[in-house]
Formats: sequence, C-alpha cells, structure tokens
Amino acid sequence: MTTYSEETLDLVQKIATECTACQRCMKDCLFLQSFCENPKDLFTTILATGESEPLLPFSCLLCGRCTVVCPLQLKLGESFLAMRQDLVKSNQGRPLKALRSVELHQFFSCHRFFTGDNRGGRKQ
Ligand code: SF4
Ligand code: SF4
Repeated sequence: MTTYSEETLDLVQKIATECTACQRCMKDCLFLQSFCENPKDLFTTILATGESEPLLPFSCLLCGRCTVVCPLQLKLGESFLAMRQDLVKSNQGRPLKALRSVELHQFFSCHRFFTGDNRGGRKQ
C-alpha cells in the first residue's frame, strides 16, 4: 500500500487532532457512514499507519457538505483528494487498477473514431 506524503498527512493530522467526533457531518454522508464510526477515529488510524485502503479516498464524492456542516469547517474532502493524488502519483500517474475501465472509457470517448464531426449536411 502507498504511504501518504507529508503534506497529505499534515491534512490528516489536522482532522485527527481537531475533530470532536460529533458526527454532524455523518448524518447525510453515506460514504462516512459506510467507512467509519466517526472521522476522528478514521483519520487517527490513517495518521498512525500513514496509509489506507485505496477504496477509501476514492469513495468520497468530494462534495464538501461535511465542511459546510462541521462546526470547525474541517476539510475532509480536501484530505481525501490529497490521498487520491498520492495514490495516482505512486501508480506512475495511472489510475488504480480498479479504475482502469474509467481510463479506457475516457480514451475511447475522445478517440477520433468516435468524435468525428457530423454536421448533418445533406448530400446534393
Ligand atoms: S466530501 Fe466526502 S466525506 Fe464530505 S460529505 Fe461529501 S462524500 Fe462525505
Ligand atoms: S462535523 Fe466536524 S467535528 Fe464533527 S465529526 Fe464531522 S469532522 Fe468531526
């Protein structure tokens, strides 16, 4: 597993330290409800090990709602995004294996075979 960068772990540490485990952010977040009892425990574990399952950061929607409702405006989404970026960098810039189908989808969606102009002109 990838060990997260110092910059990412600084973001993780802020949440591990400051979160009061009030769970306000969890009320409407199915992702957090699925992965933890509360963000404090989750981020404390990540900080202790320096890593997490890749599925964790890639499951956050990065919607930012947690920050809006958090009394401390903690930026969980920003931390999960930083973890994703570390994982992509450590994978030579490629998506995770589980996300290869997305890479292929993007490649073929932009392929000239599928993006030719169709101006709808009539033949004379
Ligand atoms: S940014 Fe992630 S953790 Fe925060 S509310 Fe959205 S899905 Fe949940
Ligand atoms: S709302 Fe903020 S302080 Fe409360 S559990 Fe969520 S991240 Fe922690």
